Amino acid sequence: MSQVLRLGVIGDPVAHSISPAMQQPALDAMSVNAVYERWQTSASELPERIASLRAPCMLGANVTVPHKQAVMALLDDVSPLAQQVGAVNTIVSKDGRLSGDNTDVYGFATALLEACSDVANRRVVVLGAGGAARGVALALSQIGAPSITIANRNADRAHTLCKELGFANLQSTTLANAPFVDADILINATSLGWHAGETPIDQQALASLPPDALVVDLTYRDTDLLDAARDRGLATLDGLGMLVYQGALAFERFTGRPAPLDVMWSAARLARAPRL
Ligand code: NDP
Repeated sequence: MSQVLRLGVIGDPVAHSISPAMQQPALDAMSVNAVYERWQTSASELPERIASLRAPCMLGANVTVPHKQAVMALLDDVSPLAQQVGAVNTIVSKDGRLSGDNTDVYGFATALLEACSDVANRRVVVLGAGGAARGVALALSQIGAPSITIANRNADRAHTLCKELGFANLQSTTLANAPFVDADILINATSLGWHAGETPIDQQALASLPPDALVVDLTYRDTDLLDAARDRGLATLDGLGMLVYQGALAFERFTGRPAPLDVMWSAARLARAPRL
């Protein structure tokens, strides 16, 4: 019998990650003889964890908070896209070499285009300027959104994001000054939303959105923001599609096989925890 291959998700914490629940059924469905594990890894343990991926039995790893930036220096090569985003979420191990890539950009773009086919005609406001917002801004620019405003609590961080990405259609502001009236698509890419009562903006702001606006939340379950948007009759999209599509592309990179999307969607829906 062939050797069991290994892969996993690296983060701190990783107990909450639904990647194992989504990737293992996908491996099984495609008859890949591999186990997908949870690799709780502190910052000081990161170099040793990454080095362990060079073993012949390793296919690679997904990387989550807070190591998406720190792993970049420990790899043999990093794709131009991951360098532009400044974050690696997928490491492929081949012949002892480790290559880093970013599949979050693809995951977000695929999920958004499924929900809204004319992004190229929509003005977008992104709440947040962290790692996820950076990938979202890049994806929106690639898709051709005509105007992208990054609105963040810390306005300097939003300004830096726009300057570093350098696209002409990007501008920055504070959360309070976000141009809601002009937001055909509003995207919550802050870390607020996982708990009841958490929203990055006053929900009254939703009243200023155009009536055909789409409200997106990267949180991969229902949030107060999405509830309030639905109450106002607005279209909504949560972050589960982004999670599934980034995982599907990572699966293809790890295994060289097509991702069984239906299996991954069902597993992700089952594993998604209820709101805290
Ligand atoms: P970061 O820590 O890099 O950024 C956090 C962002 O949230 C910053 O813009 C920060 O603003 C803002 N923020 C935090 N607290 C507050 C607050 N109290 N009020 C206003 N703004 C606040 O996180 P990530 O970018 O990595 O992740 C953001 C979210 O996206 C998370 O919920 C994550 O789970 C989700 N995500 C979902 C994915 C999916 O597949 N669906 C993939 C990746 C991420 P400031 O700069 O002012 O501190």
